Amino acid sequence: MIESIAAGAFVTEVALGEYDVRGALLVDAARVVVWDTLSHPRDMAGWLPLIGDRDVEVVYSHADWDHIWGTAGLPLRNATIVGHRACRERFGTDVPRTLCERQRAEPGKWDEVTLVVPNAVFDDKMVVGIGSMTLELHHLPGHTTDAIVGFVPERGLLLMGDAAETPFPVVPPDSPLVEWVAGLERWAHDPRVRTVVPAHGPTGGTDILQKNLRYLRGLLDGRPLTVAEPLTEFYRKTHQANVGWAEPRPIRAPGRQPNGPVG
Ligand SMILES: [Zn+2]
Repeated sequence: MIESIAAGAFVTEVALGEYDVRGALLVDAARVVVWDTLSHPRDMAGWLPLIGDRDVEVVYSHADWDHIWGTAGLPLRNATIVGHRACRERFGTDVPRTLCERQRAEPGKWDEVTLVVPNAVFDDKMVVGIGSMTLELHHLPGHTTDAIVGFVPERGLLLMGDAAETPFPVVPPDSPLVEWVAGLERWAHDPRVRTVVPAHGPTGGTDILQKNLRYLRGLLDGRPLTVAEPLTEFYRKTHQANVGWAEPRPIRAPGRQPNGPVG
């Protein structure tokens, strides 16, 4: 399912069982930028007619499996693949390990997945031009150390990856929560932001950022929010794990795990 969210900007969603994941496409006359390639090369099939023979650039919001496994489904030629420096590092550590584990656990299901490593990295900020649009990439660590957000000022569009989601984000035990909250606060108060596009949960306005901020501040203050809305099994477990954020416990792999948050 493809939805147009602004001039030259589209989103698509795929169901992964426990949750859905969303990616975006920014299109101009000669170029496209793919924001996250989702979980499998076939997840990119819907973009192909919109891409046509345009040059493709790929941006990874972070290196969790459900955002990067679909890259081989794109007409890459000599495409630039952008990610945070820490995102590229993960392609030498947990990224291939997670794919191996998945391929062993579910033979045949992930054979088409080819890992495509970022060939352009940045630390704090990077700007990608797409004809009449600009995509500003900003580091926003918290969900993972390599997490970034993408802002299109001409459209007021903020692509969040997993830096914000509904009903609440996935918080690893070693998350730099103070930095995460500060980053989200800056965007929540930026009057240019009109549309907020998380990878998980509905799109909307800056109310999504405010809701994530209330939740994260609760963890930070040692007074976790009680979540009133009914939760799926994934988010029930995620909340349980998130609430223990400040308690020392064994380090697990960064980000969202294929078998749920506790992996
Ligand atoms: Zn995700």
